[in-house]
Amino acid sequence: MAQTLLKVSGLQVAYGGIQAVKGVDFEVREGELVSLIGSNGAGKTTTMKAITGTLPLAGGSIEYLGKSIKGQGPWDLVKQGLAMVPEGRGVFARMTITENLQMGAYIRNDKAGIAADIEKVFTIFPRLRERKDQLAGTMSGGEQQMLAMGRALMSRPKLLLLDEPSMGLSPIMVDKIFEVVQNVYAQGVTILLVEQNASRALALADRGYVMESGLISMTGAGKDLLADPKVRAAYLGE
Ligand code: ATP
Repeated sequence: MAQTLLKVSGLQVAYGGIQAVKGVDFEVREGELVSLIGSNGAGKTTTMKAITGTLPLAGGSIEYLGKSIKGQGPWDLVKQGLAMVPEGRGVFARMTITENLQMGAYIRNDKAGIAADIEKVFTIFPRLRERKDQLAGTMSGGEQQMLAMGRALMSRPKLLLLDEPSMGLSPIMVDKIFEVVQNVYAQGVTILLVEQNASRALALADRGYVMESGLISMTGAGKDLLADPKVRAAYLGE
């Protein structure tokens, strides 16, 4: 069986006295695309923030490559191959597109390799090439999402966490973003995809987890969850 890259066990996260994540278990194995779906407020983003060290754990553990990553921030994690595209993108607004991509490679110092990878990102997202000298803060939401994904790829991640990449985008842009997620996955990057767009996220996923009120309520193969009447009723409006 493939190596487990990420293992989340009994995870609890609280905001003040309120528990948003109440004991969550899931794992992501090398080569998988795993989708975590659930409605607004289910605790998906909170779970992602706990993984990347931006929120403290109230209980449980998170292991990456078999070791606890408790207390490590995004900077340490990127060095170990775990990159994240946060909800709301988080691009550097006052830097150009090219500068943002260079920032994504901050852990590397192979100049030629970095230049070649910027070219690769421009091939995946021709729109970014057309606008390479534009300030990131002046780009549309979809363009900023592309840039955030491109920037994360610049660290050559082993595991890429994507938090709601389709949120707030037009239907055409949503298509483009899911196409890119599939391409990146096909190139061998393991992906944990958090999405409210359950049908698209499960259609791509090897496995999926459904999160409800801070707990995992269902898990299974992406296509099985997609066909499940309970999932269809609750998340696909049927
Ligand atoms: P969405 O898809 O709407 O982003 P989500 O599944 O990602 O939903 P979270 O953002 O993780 O859900 O929120 C989980 C719960 O924690 C919600 O009840 C939310 O109101 C609460 N919460 C999130 N951030 C905070 C915060 N900074 N302070 C207090 N409560 C918070």
